Amino acid sequence: MSELKCKLLIIGAGPGGYVCAIRAGQLGVETIIVDSQAPGGTCLNVGCIPSKALIHAADQFHEIASAASGPLGISVGAPSIDLATTIAWKDGIVKRLNDGVSGLMKKAKVKHISGDARFLDGKTVTVQTSDGEQRIRAENVVIATGSSPTELPFLPFGDDILSSTEALSLQEVPKSMVVVGGGYIGLEIGTAFAKLGAKVTVVEATGQILPQYDSALSKPVSKRLQQLGIDVQLNTKASGFHKGKLQTDQGDIPADKVLVAVGRRPRTDSVGIDELMLSMDDAFIQINKSCQTSMRGIYAIGDVTGEPMLAHRAMAQGEMVAEIVAGHDLSWDKRCIPAVCFTDPEIVTCGVLPHELKGAKVSEFPFAANGRAMTTEREDGFIRIVARPEDDAVMGIQAVGVGVSELSATFALAIEMGATLQDIGATIHAHPTQSEGFQEAALRALGKALHI
Ligand code: FAD
Ligand code: NAD
Repeated sequence: MSELKCKLLIIGAGPGGYVCAIRAGQLGVETIIVDSQAPGGTCLNVGCIPSKALIHAADQFHEIASAASGPLGISVGAPSIDLATTIAWKDGIVKRLNDGVSGLMKKAKVKHISGDARFLDGKTVTVQTSDGEQRIRAENVVIATGSSPTELPFLPFGDDILSSTEALSLQEVPKSMVVVGGGYIGLEIGTAFAKLGAKVTVVEATGQILPQYDSALSKPVSKRLQQLGIDVQLNTKASGFHKGKLQTDQGDIPADKVLVAVGRRPRTDSVGIDELMLSMDDAFIQINKSCQTSMRGIYAIGDVTGEPMLAHRAMAQGEMVAEIVAGHDLSWDKRCIPAVCFTDPEIVTCGVLPHELKGAKVSEFPFAANGRAMTTEREDGFIRIVARPEDDAVMGIQAVGVGVSELSATFALAIEMGATLQDIGATIHAHPTQSEGFQEAALRALGKALHI
């Protein structure tokens, strides 16, 4: 058995781990990263990228299929889809990005070891590689092992019961699909399969889809789900699957495939952290503002540290920890982490929601009053600003509408730079764009709206 020594060892090459490795390498820190899977983690291999590829393909198919019945005077024949080809195209994108991440790590002189790492003590891990056991001793260790889909005991994954991973690699569009869980994954993937022609039913335990948002944000999505023929059963809990039917407390629902998307749990078991006795936050690893765990020299980043489980949060944490290990004095000082739900229409949230700020000035501008939205045939949704009453500082921005994901950067920048309603109202926004709704929402809060 051989032993390697390094300044920084990263366990897990997802968005948190690989970004940490690249930055550390760039800063001259001797770095080793361990993962048995292709670099990119959940996000690149079975999450963000594959789901957005499937959503794009489904949008294209649905647009062509519905063009003939629209008002634009377009006529086309009924389209068909070979899902196996679509999935092969998606796999090609994933492979290109895997290679890209490998290349970037190599350029930063990061050593990549393929295998699963397990702690022997706080400074040493063992990795089972194809060449035998490899020990690694490190001055600093980053746990970036991510998360896995939550399994329901009465709906174990296998055969027709799918997690998001299997749903994103189906070779045929199922005739019917029941989605258990009306959250991010259930609605993004469920909507895509409905657009591809499956009869989709969503079973959600609470009284609202996307229960983490206020109902004003989820309402346009609910309306669209209905237009797409998706049956949403709220206040309904699944209890089993028998003879092609999902059993629920409200009755049985026929289903060729069942997608279970009821959340994700941190991946801590495979890495052997029990022996380290780290302080935990429920099942997640507890961290401070520098992503340090309760043991000196051990850091944790990304999904394994809890909500929000988003790739860009993991990346920002990874970058910060690399800087800290390189000797720079940093701690988490971000004002907001934007979140995008890639439903139809999309939802963006950034900063506080109206009910989270006492006495908030809340202003909304509907896309129904926006020229650009009219020219794209989709006027549903709005942009909303939440401002602090004493100084008009913008504390939260939300939007729901087609394509609003691309406004998330503008929203985050405004909050990060400490913009006020006056700053946004005084900024020229190009015409005709959906972003004009942002300026108008600010003007409206100041009692100066022009287009409503
Ligand atoms: P992960 O990406 O989970 O990576 C962890 C890595 O650690 C894995 O490669 C794993 O193999 C490795 N590992 C685990 N144990 C060990 C071990 N013992 N030794 C060595 N390696 C180990 N987020 C967004 O921001 N936007 C989206 O659009 C989005 N869409 C999503 C869609 C789906 C279907 C899913 C499932 C998730 C989506 N997410 C999205 C969430 C996003 O994927 C995660 O937040 C992100 O991947 C977390 O990054 P991470 O680095 O913490 O962990
Ligand atoms: P989620 O927390 O978004 O949604 C889970 C839903 O399942 C909730 O609405 C919950 O009420 C419901 N639920 C729980 N138990 C149930 C039961 N027994 N029966 C019926 N409904 C039940 O979780 P998810 O959709 O699995 O996504 C996991 C995480 O992945 C998210 O929190 C998010 O951070 C990340 N993600 C992000 C994106 C994105 O950024 N666009 C996309 C996908 C996933």
